[in-house]
Amino acid sequence: MKPVNLLGLDRQGLIAHCERLGEKPFRATQLFRWIHQRGATDFVAMTDLAASLRGHLEQTAEIPGMTVLGEQTARDGTVKWLFDVGQGDAIETVFIPEADRGTLCISSQAGCAVGCRFCSTGHQGFSRNLSTGEIVGQLHHAEFALRRRLGLEPGARAVTNVVMMGMGEPLQNYAALLPALRVMLDDHGYGLSRRRVTVSTSGVIPMIDRLSADCPVALAVSLHAPTDALRDDLVPLNRKYPLAELLAACQRYLARAPRDFITFEYCMLDSVNDAPLQARQLVDLMRSPGSDGRPLPCKFNLIPFNPFPDSGLTRSGPDRVKAFVEVLQGAGFITTIRRTRGDDITAACGQLAGEVQDRTHVERRLSRTPIRIVRHRAAAGNSRPSKEGVA
Ligand code: SAH
Ligand code: SF4
Repeated sequence: MKPVNLLGLDRQGLIAHCERLGEKPFRATQLFRWIHQRGATDFVAMTDLAASLRGHLEQTAEIPGMTVLGEQTARDGTVKWLFDVGQGDAIETVFIPEADRGTLCISSQAGCAVGCRFCSTGHQGFSRNLSTGEIVGQLHHAEFALRRRLGLEPGARAVTNVVMMGMGEPLQNYAALLPALRVMLDDHGYGLSRRRVTVSTSGVIPMIDRLSADCPVALAVSLHAPTDALRDDLVPLNRKYPLAELLAACQRYLARAPRDFITFEYCMLDSVNDAPLQARQLVDLMRSPGSDGRPLPCKFNLIPFNPFPDSGLTRSGPDRVKAFVEVLQGAGFITTIRRTRGDDITAACGQLAGEVQDRTHVERRLSRTPIRIVRHRAAAGNSRPSKEGVA
């Protein structure tokens, strides 16, 4: 029988597995701590577990390491791993160190079926969902590799924040995502607070509601357009889940969210979605009352477009970004501009590509419908955007 991948089980799952071996729940918790707090991959090392349990585990279970195809460190300290997940598919994971935190950007799928125009992963098409073990495996690998590399004291954490912003649409892989989130939040696991774990979605409405009921972590929604016409083009999922319904789902999410706002990500594409008029449309959209009659409490995180081969798109210039920010901030919305990290190793947002077998032919679909270019140009100016930061 195939051994059970213990990285794929949340604590309840591990308790159930241990019960099948005739063990008490507290033994499962001990085992869980060995795996996620001490980084053990070998049952022999777990000296406070009975030899008989270790023997049973040897026969029924495994804690597999990720298969590393490559590891690169950027000039700014950003680390990117390329992992082989079999059958020709590879995924990427990125660690972004900052003065007061270390953020790990985790992939949820090999490729992505949503097919956003400005996203390298979207251009690759979709291959498959990652398992819970593969999602948690990225965190397990990064945390313990970084602890060794940085020479951290036992118990010190390298990864303090997780963002589900790597390859894939996490809410299209909900069944695997949910136990992975539980492992991240578990005090006997990685012990991250719900505010420090962010799920980023292109807007899978039913799953936003499920997440709110099951495990309300911080939510980031990739908006990228103020109107349905433009968003239909940029984020094809909008045709199924249009803006008014998406914003209503965000409003519902806030009732249980760990933060009292939703973060909207907005990738700045030159002459496509970055005109001052579009910023004003965005303001109006957020002020249009939600289902309970209130405007939506939110923050904007503008992401400079990170180019990749054959995208046919360019990054908005600083003047256009500045004009856009001024409209949003002038209307009272907290607006940050994401600093680009790790772009010398193509580890920046939307550049993650790995190697994926395109089984849904997204590239062919993308090439059929031309993008609409909006021709509003901002007034010229030299100053840089006023605020920088990461969501
Ligand atoms: N699928 C999810 C999470 C992964 S993408 C989502 O779309 O939210 C993470 C973020 O990177 C999203 O906000 C996405 O819009 C942004 N992104 C994608 N391609 C980009 C690019 N080329 N440049 C800048 N940001 C990009
Ligand atoms: Fe998928 Fe997100 Fe990329 Fe869109 S931006 S293609 S949803 S990974």
